[in-house]
This record gives sequence, structure tokens and C-alpha cells, in this order.
Amino acid sequence: MRDSRETLVKKAFVVGYPIAHSRSPLLHNHWLRVFGIDGSYDRIEISPSEFPQFVARLKSGEAGLIGGNVTIPHKELAFQLADRPDELSEELGAANTLWFEDSALRATNTDGYGFVSNLDQRHPRWDKTDRAVVFGAGGASRSILLALRDRGFREIHVVNRTLDRARELADRFGSTIHAHPLEALSEVMQDAGLFVNTTSVGMEGKQAAIDIDFSRLSSGAVVTDIIYVPLETPILVQARRQGFATVDGLGMLLHQAVPGFEKWFGVRPDVTEELRQLVIADMGQGA
Ligand code: NAP
Repeated sequence: MRDSRETLVKKAFVVGYPIAHSRSPLLHNHWLRVFGIDGSYDRIEISPSEFPQFVARLKSGEAGLIGGNVTIPHKELAFQLADRPDELSEELGAANTLWFEDSALRATNTDGYGFVSNLDQRHPRWDKTDRAVVFGAGGASRSILLALRDRGFREIHVVNRTLDRARELADRFGSTIHAHPLEALSEVMQDAGLFVNTTSVGMEGKQAAIDIDFSRLSSGAVVTDIIYVPLETPILVQARRQGFATVDGLGMLLHQAVPGFEKWFGVRPDVTEELRQLVIADMGQGA
């Protein structure tokens, strides 16, 4: 069968279930326009039971797709079905980016890269501390814990409502990561220079925020939230009122898209203020 990837128009995708909410096409189509590339990036909705068949068609070339992003609930299966996952996705057991190299389907996870690149861009001295507190132990937390460990943080405290989930991550990712129950949040914040919210607390349409006393953080500490709807989350508002620098989560979404675009279309795009404003406008929050 003819490999339809050999067509002139390079076609990439984001696959998930559901997928209508994904803002990834907005980002990638903006960059395709900026570079004048004859390509496309579209949403594909595939149910979990159909996902293996989708990957088989992708690998055969029959679908004419050069790679793409994978989102909930397919990240684990994408990693398992790839021919050559990279070391990072092996450690996480999940992938969000697929591409081809020498006809092999490769997989990586760019969430942690997106997280640190956002902080590097918006608060360059954010990593001048050894001690971080990560609130939440869900899917996104994993990538962030590894990114912080790999950046050289020496003490990373993961605090979660369900202690067992935090313990599982601490056991899995090594001795720099320590697990704590919710009741210990205030205590472990003592002298930490970074606080990261990775829970869905404060997300639009979800639970109301909880009150957090940030006063035990070191002076000059940075507070960041990976939720970006709303952009100004209740946790960020509280931290700013208590005198701390804050970084919102939108940049994580923008930066995690960069490595995929480069792999599929051959140029590395920039995360610009123009792109950020485009997404903010799409979120209906104005500039
Ligand atoms: P997830 O796997 O469902 O994990 C949710 C986490 O929130 C768990 O740790 C959960 O604790 C905690 N949680 C939920 N309700 C809580 C409550 N009332 N009190 C205390 N803790 C609570 O979700 P995820 O995929 O990691 O995503 C988390 C958030 O990050 C979402 O808002 C998502 O939109 C955002 N996100 C943003 C980006 C970005 O690019 N900026 C990327 C990925 C995710 P338990 O374990 O106790 O249930």
C-alpha cells in the first residue's frame, strides 16, 4: 500500500476522547501560518477501544499523518504502542507526542518541558532554590516532578489529598521526592522557594479553591498554577496578595507544543506574546 505520508501537505493531529475542547490546533495552525508551511493540524476524536487501530493506521502510513499529540485518555496506550519511546516517556509510562524516525513511531512527553520553559520565560530566576512543594499527584504532577528533579531540585515535597497516590510517585521517582498528606501542606512549605499547584482545585467549573497560607515560603519564592482557565486562579490571587511572585499556567500549554511542531514540520517555533494573546482571546477573557 502507498505511504500517503509522502504527499506535499504535511498532516499532523491531536487525538483524544473527547477532543473538541483542545486548543492545540489554534497553536499549531498559528505557527504553520507564521512559517508559511503547507501543512495542517487537526483534532481527531478516537474512543479508547478504537485507539490501537488508529495507531496501526498511523504506522502503516495509510492515514497520511506525520505524527501528532495525544491527550486524555490515550497517553499511556500511546507510550505502549510506540515502536521506540524515549527514556522520559519510559520513566513516565505515558506519551503526549508521536513522530516518525526511520519509519519507527517514536514517542515522548513534553509536559515537563512545557512547565519549566514557561517558568524560564516568565520568571527566569525561579529555579534558584533547592526546595519545591508540588500540590497534587495526578497525571500532570508526574511530568512536573521529573522535570523538577532533572532541573536539580534537591527536595521535592508532593502533597496530595489521597496520600497513596503521592507515595506511589515518591517510590517510583527516587529519593528527592517526599510524599505527604494534605494536613502537612503548611509544614512542608517552610523555606520552600517554589510552590506548584497541579490539582484541579480552582479550575473553572470545578471545586472552589482552598485557603492556603503561603507565609512559610522563603522570601522571593515563586507560586505557579498549571490551571489556565481561569488564567488568574484563586491560588495565584491568594499568593500575590500575600506578596509572592506568580506565574500562570498558560505558558505550559504553549511551550509543550514546541518540540512536536519542530519534529513534524522541521522548524522550532517561538512562544510569543502574540500567540499568548491569541489563546487568551479564544478563552473569551480578553487581552
Ligand atoms: P488528575 O490526574 O485528575 O489529578 C487531579 C489532582 O487534583 C489529584 O492530585 C487530586 O487529588 C487533586 N484534587 C482534585 N480535587 C481536589 C480537592 N477538592 N482537594 C484536593 N485535591 C484535589 O488531573 P491532571 O491531568 O493532573 O490535571 C490537573 C489540572 O492541571 C487540571 O486542571 C488540568 O487542566 C491542568 N493541566 C494543565 C496543563 C497545562 O498545560 N497548563 C497540562 C496538564 C494539566 P486525589 O489524588 O486525592 O484525587
